Amino acid sequence: MKSQEIRSKFLSFFEEKKHTIVPSAPMVLKDDPTLMFVNSGMAPFKEYFLGNAKPKNNRIADTQKCLRVSGKHNDLEEVGYDTYHHTLFEMLGNWSFGDYFKKEAIAWAWELLTEVYGIDKDILYVTVFEGSEDDKLPMDKEAYDLWKSFISEDRILMGNKKDNFWEMGDQGPCGPCSEIHVDIRSAEEKAKIDGKTLVNADHPQVVEIWNLVFMQYNRKANGSLEALPDKHIDTGMGFERLCMVLQGVQSNYDTDVFTPIIREIETIADKKYGKDDKVDVAIRVISDHVRAVAFSIADGQLPSNTGAGYVIRRILRRAIRYSFTFLDQKEPFIYRLVEVLSEKMGKAFPELKSQKQLIENVIKEEEQSFLRTLDQGLVLLNRIVEESKSDTISGEKAFELYDTFGFPIDLTALILREKGLSLDEAGFHSEMKKQKDRSRAASEMSTDDWTILSDDTHEEFVGYDMLEANVKLTRYRKVVSKKDGEMYQLVFNLTPFYPEGGGQVGDKGYLEDSHGDVVYILDTKKENNVIIHFAKNLPKHINETFKAVVDAKQRYRTECNHTATHLLHQALREILGTHVEQKGSAVHSKYLRFDFSHFSKLTIEELRDVENFVNARIDGKLALQEKRNIPMQQAIDEGAMALFGEKYGDTVRAVRFGQSIELCGGTHVKNTGDIWHFKIVSEGAVAAGIRRIEAITNDAVKDFYFENNRAYFEMKDLLNNAQEPVKALQNLQAENADLKKQIENLLKDKAKNVKGDLKNELTEINGIQFLAKKLDLDASGIKDVSFELGQQYTNLFLLFGTENDGKALLSCYISKELVESKGLNAGTIVRELGKYIQGGGGGQPFFATAGGKNPDGIDEALAAAKKYIE
Ligand code: ATP
Ligand code: MG
Repeated sequence: MKSQEIRSKFLSFFEEKKHTIVPSAPMVLKDDPTLMFVNSGMAPFKEYFLGNAKPKNNRIADTQKCLRVSGKHNDLEEVGYDTYHHTLFEMLGNWSFGDYFKKEAIAWAWELLTEVYGIDKDILYVTVFEGSEDDKLPMDKEAYDLWKSFISEDRILMGNKKDNFWEMGDQGPCGPCSEIHVDIRSAEEKAKIDGKTLVNADHPQVVEIWNLVFMQYNRKANGSLEALPDKHIDTGMGFERLCMVLQGVQSNYDTDVFTPIIREIETIADKKYGKDDKVDVAIRVISDHVRAVAFSIADGQLPSNTGAGYVIRRILRRAIRYSFTFLDQKEPFIYRLVEVLSEKMGKAFPELKSQKQLIENVIKEEEQSFLRTLDQGLVLLNRIVEESKSDTISGEKAFELYDTFGFPIDLTALILREKGLSLDEAGFHSEMKKQKDRSRAASEMSTDDWTILSDDTHEEFVGYDMLEANVKLTRYRKVVSKKDGEMYQLVFNLTPFYPEGGGQVGDKGYLEDSHGDVVYILDTKKENNVIIHFAKNLPKHINETFKAVVDAKQRYRTECNHTATHLLHQALREILGTHVEQKGSAVHSKYLRFDFSHFSKLTIEELRDVENFVNARIDGKLALQEKRNIPMQQAIDEGAMALFGEKYGDTVRAVRFGQSIELCGGTHVKNTGDIWHFKIVSEGAVAAGIRRIEAITNDAVKDFYFENNRAYFEMKDLLNNAQEPVKALQNLQAENADLKKQIENLLKDKAKNVKGDLKNELTEINGIQFLAKKLDLDASGIKDVSFELGQQYTNLFLLFGTENDGKALLSCYISKELVESKGLNAGTIVRELGKYIQGGGGGQPFFATAGGKNPDGIDEALAAAKKYIE
């Protein structure tokens, strides 16, 4: 059975069982501080399990793109080495939100596997939760009895808390689960070892394919469990593993999900899969990682230096390392796999097709830049090897390479091995651990349980229409973190505060009660569909009604920038073309930032056209036309554009200003005229094919012009009120260049005189002409003097010090003959003497310089020079 068919059979099976089929949610999560990527099918539905929102149907089925590369579920280091863990994989799932429970979930899973897919029940095992003393939970007898009617009891195995009790995180909904495992070994193997003993034992052919989670408890902050009012079903089946079983192969990589990519790698790299273990691992790593990276870019998450983007960059770099080391690919090549990937999966995931070009560009550029880094790392590593006096390279040095240059440890180890050297790996790991501990300490956090004041969990956002409202606190909790100290999170029955989202920052403001007590709201964020207000302290009278007041000025400036962002988006598509797609947006009160796909730098004319386009619409005083709750399709039909990687509900809000129509939950000015003016302040590249514009509006533009104007008048003033300041400045520049030339010549003359004097000051020590002296020359003067003296001697050792602008410079010259005969090295010497002037430097063995910030140390450095020749 082809993978396409396997996927669609799953969905149609549950559709027949009255499930609504929904598309995969984007992989990158935007409003969940505990999770960066969707790592299981349930993540996009968390708000339903937490009771923060209601699904439109309480039975849902889907296939969800999951990424397990960070946090609680991190399979990254396994990927490639085994044949059944991926970074990105599809999880097929069926859900019941307070609807059916164990009975149906188990019966349907069995029916689908054995009847629809026709899997032989004699290769299946199921597991049941054995109970836990810690949690005072009994064995899951209910599940056991249900399974008994389908499968012989010797194939029902007991599982412990680790494997058979599923938890979303340290807190929140959880419950026992039943896993379904397959044993696809040959009959011969099966006769040798009983399959039962291999379940959950990391055997590549005895693997878990489906997990049925019976969500019936809530884990509280103190670790105790309470029963959930509604019980839920959450199941997840690994699509690639299912394909392996149904296609009768022994590895996920031998299914039609992967073989086309692997064939392409074989062709491009001229290697064969299945001949050499190391090559096989590399091929699996690359074929897996290219999928993860491509899907992520399509979802709008580009590789970058921080957060989710950094995780993606690391995945791609892992693939590059393997191709560099084991497939001998020294040129970018992973981007060339995108073609077959998009061909193969573009039907189920059309974003791979529509964004193919962008994905290729981004991957290619990342490859180029990391290959350069690898090259630089190699040079550095060679230097470390040359300078090292022992056969073992220290963990610290390897860590420095890793941390500063992204140079991977396995590669360092490999290269050292080839040179017959070894690496202090324990030292490396201890450095690594130190760094991890540092960052863990920085992000440590403790979160209390919610204190519930009212059962009303519905929280209405009224901030589109008002900036002030009377609100009641419905729940609160305390969070303590290193970063912010003690903070309170407050939830109200309704709120005028806009929570950070859609690029727009969260509102600030305050709460006031009838006694005049005030609490400041420092930020507002949405977390799993709940609007959370952050405050340094808890209001004194928590049961009162508060007047909640949004900081109107900040909000207004932010709105100017948000509306301008829409107009900018429209302008770019109009002027540059419809290939322009939004790739990121940040709307602050002080500025706006907009990332979009486009292949070249914008010309001055294009930038001017874009500004003019936006300002024309501001001058046109276009009124906001807002439709709050319209069906998605209607909005699309009216011309709105859905963004990839955004999660939309069934009904959406459409925001229109003239011909600009966007799906947007943000807040906007009532009329474009309110923006007053729009000004682009920068344009540049953020990645291959992605440009970034930063712009300002309203008061910020006034400040901008004011500042520029002030600078202009100050400059004019300094130029003695010249009628033509630009010309006056050009004259000054010319004059300045002339003076510089003259000074240079004078210094040269001076150096000549100095040289004559210096010759007389040389002293002979151990057959070496030696001088250490402070000079009143600049760096190039010192260099000239040194080299000129150098031409007259073959046994010269010079150390000069000079002070310039409060900084110190040391310069060491050693005749080449001395370098060779005595093993002296000016580079090492200035580096060592650099400590006196609080600085460092380097250069070549015969000439090197060091700079430092402590001129007072020059004399000491000069005094220390003698020891090198004595
Ligand atoms: P395993 O023990 O094999 O790592 P798991 O217990 O982590 O699996 P779950 O979290 O229960 O798995 O996820 C549900 C299903 O998703 C699994 O039964 C499996 O089929 C699939 N799955 C889990 N992790 C991966 C992965 N890294 N790559 C591919 N499929 C996976
Ligand atoms: Mg796992």
